[in-house]
Amino acid sequence: MSSQTPASPDQTSARPLVRFSKVTKRYGEHTVLDDLDLDVAAGEKVTIIGPSGSGKSTVLRILMTLETLSDGLIEIDGEPLWHERRTDQLRPASEAHLRKMRGQLGMVFQQFNLFPHMSVQRNLTEAPRQVLGLSRKEAQSRATELLERVGLADHANKYPGQLSGGQQQRVGIARALMMRPRIMLFDEPTSALDPELVGEVLHVIRTLADEHDLTVLMVTHEMSFARRFSDRVCFFDKGRIHEQGTPEQIFTDPREARTREFLRAVL
Ligand code: ADP
Ligand code: MG
Repeated sequence: MSSQTPASPDQTSARPLVRFSKVTKRYGEHTVLDDLDLDVAAGEKVTIIGPSGSGKSTVLRILMTLETLSDGLIEIDGEPLWHERRTDQLRPASEAHLRKMRGQLGMVFQQFNLFPHMSVQRNLTEAPRQVLGLSRKEAQSRATELLERVGLADHANKYPGQLSGGQQQRVGIARALMMRPRIMLFDEPTSALDPELVGEVLHVIRTLADEHDLTVLMVTHEMSFARRFSDRVCFFDKGRIHEQGTPEQIFTDPREARTREFLRAVL
C-alpha cells in the first residue's frame, strides 16, 4: 500500500491515522460498542484493557473488516473503511476499495491461526503471493528477513505443530508483517501462552513495532507490558472508553472508580 501512496507527513500529521466516530455495534438487542469515539495517531501505540465482554475484540475485528458496524464511521487516513449504507448494512464502495483498506492492516490473534498443513515459510509467503502477486523469490526473501527478525531463521521448513506456542505466535507476527501493514492489531497475543513464553513474544512485538514505525492497537492483559509499551492506555467498559490516558496516569492515578476496581483485580 505504502508503495502506491507515499506517506506525506505534512498532510497526515494533522489527522489521526485511524478514527472511530460514534461507532455502534449491536448483535440483536445487545449493544457491544456504544457510540465509540477513538482516534489513533500515526505511529502511536495504544493498548486496550478492560473486563471480558467489554467490546475490546470487537473494536479490532471491526477495524479489520471481519465484522461490519451498525452505526457510525471508521476512517483510515481520512478515508472511510465502508462507503455505502443500504438499510442497516454498510458496504464497501468496491472490492478494490476494501482490499486497499485491508492492506493497511495486519492482525495477530490469541490462537495464532496459522495454517497447520503449511510450513512456516509457506505460512508467510502464501498471502503475499496470492494477494500482492509477489514472485516466489520476492516472497521468500521477505520471509527469510522477517523470520530472522523474530528469531526463527532455522525453523522455516518446520510445521506449526513442531513449534512452541511462543514460536508459533512469532510466526503469526512475521506473517502479518509480510503484507507490510502500517497498522498492527494484536488481540491478546500472549493469552494462550505458558507464562515463560510470554516475554519472547512481547519482546518481538516491541522491537518490530519500533523498527517498522508501526501504529499499534493492542488488547492485552499484560499490564506491565502495556505500561512500558504504550503511548496511551484505554480502559474499556460496556462498549465505551471509560477512561484513557498515559500509562503513567492510568496505572498510578486512575480517576474512575471502575478503572481502579479493574486494576486492583488484575494487578
Ligand atoms: P472482549 O474482547 O472485551 O472480551 P468482545 O468484543 O469479544 O469482548 O465481545 C463483546 C460482547 O459482544 C460480548 O458480550 C460478546 O458475547 C458479544 N459478541 C461478540 N461477538 C458476537 C457475535 N458474533 N454474536 C453475538 N454476540 C457477540
Ligand atoms: Mg476479546
